[in-house]
Amino acid sequence: MNKMKRHLCFLLTVVMVASLLFSVNAFATNEDQHEHTYPDNFVYEDEYYHAKYCTICGAQLLDPHIDENNDYKCDDCGAVLEHDHDFGDGFVAYDKDYHVKHCTICGAEVMEPHVDANKDYKCDDCNVVLDHEHYFANNWEYLDEVYHVKTCACGAAIYELLTKTASAMLAALK
Ligand SMILES: [Zn+2]
Ligand SMILES: [Zn+2]
Ligand SMILES: [Zn+2]
Ligand SMILES: [Zn+2]
Ligand SMILES: [Zn+2]
Repeated sequence: MNKMKRHLCFLLTVVMVASLLFSVNAFATNEDQHEHTYPDNFVYEDEYYHAKYCTICGAQLLDPHIDENNDYKCDDCGAVLEHDHDFGDGFVAYDKDYHVKHCTICGAEVMEPHVDANKDYKCDDCNVVLDHEHYFANNWEYLDEVYHVKTCACGAAIYELLTKTASAMLAALK
């Protein structure tokens, strides 16, 4: 008799567990049957996809980025897509030591020191006049009837009246 009772008890447990499992299962099935409700906007997922998540169950809707206007930005989520940087007009002076350029698509910045391979005291890339002591060659050069000039490679110049005669003529003109 005792053995029988234990047996029954075991059976009952099996039935209870089974029905519990079944109801859990049924619940899950119901949950899957709703219409997914997605927000309006996609959010960035990775470099290839953006996603929306159902506001009820969190189900993910994956879609590849699209770029119909070819601006290298996803039309839906705004993510910057893979591109070759476009540095537009190139370097512009940043300070006395560096120049900088920015990608017109993503804003990526490249900063490098000025270079002056041709020794004209101007940066070969951004054209800024670099820090230097003006260097004036020894010889004056003829400028016009009144002045001669010495010029530094940077473009700075010093002028002097050509001759005393010229100077006198200039004074007479006043
Ligand atoms: Zn859902
Ligand atoms: Zn996207
Ligand atoms: Zn870029
Ligand atoms: Zn420069
Ligand atoms: Zn100079």
